[in-house]
Amino acid sequence: MNNTKIKILFSEDDEFLVDIYKNKFEKAGFDVRSVQNLNSIISEAKDFQPDFIFFDLLYDGEPAFEVLKQIKNDDETKNIPVVALTNLRKEEDRKKAMEAGALDYVSKLETSLEKMIAVVEEKLQLKICPNCHERAKIVEGKCNLCGTKIE
Ligand SMILES: [Zn+2]
Repeated sequence: MNNTKIKILFSEDDEFLVDIYKNKFEKAGFDVRSVQNLNSIISEAKDFQPDFIFFDLLYDGEPAFEVLKQIKNDDETKNIPVVALTNLRKEEDRKKAMEAGALDYVSKLETSLEKMIAVVEEKLQLKICPNCHERAKIVEGKCNLCGTKIE
């Protein structure tokens, strides 16, 4: 049994947003880390081994599609689901993010913290465990936190 919280890595250069995300996701029961320096994302992802990455596409006003590609091309990080988070609103940018390997794309302007949690739940197929009442990952039919069988 993998008795750990679900780990989320935020790649986000806005310190104010990082605090908001951390606060909300930690209260919701997730283990959260963040990187503000784009150059550290790969090493942080390898060290933390997150279940999920929210990746801010825009760094210092420049789209970071190349770094997203690097995450998806590295053997140690390529299987981690990455959802792009951004203010870029052009369809073309959405397409580029998906081509670079993003699983999905969330507009910062149109989303909310609740919706972001719902995205994680959906992509990782999390369920509320009837026994421990936490958001659980189902591993071999069992809650990853308390081991209770979940249908
Ligand atoms: Zn449980």
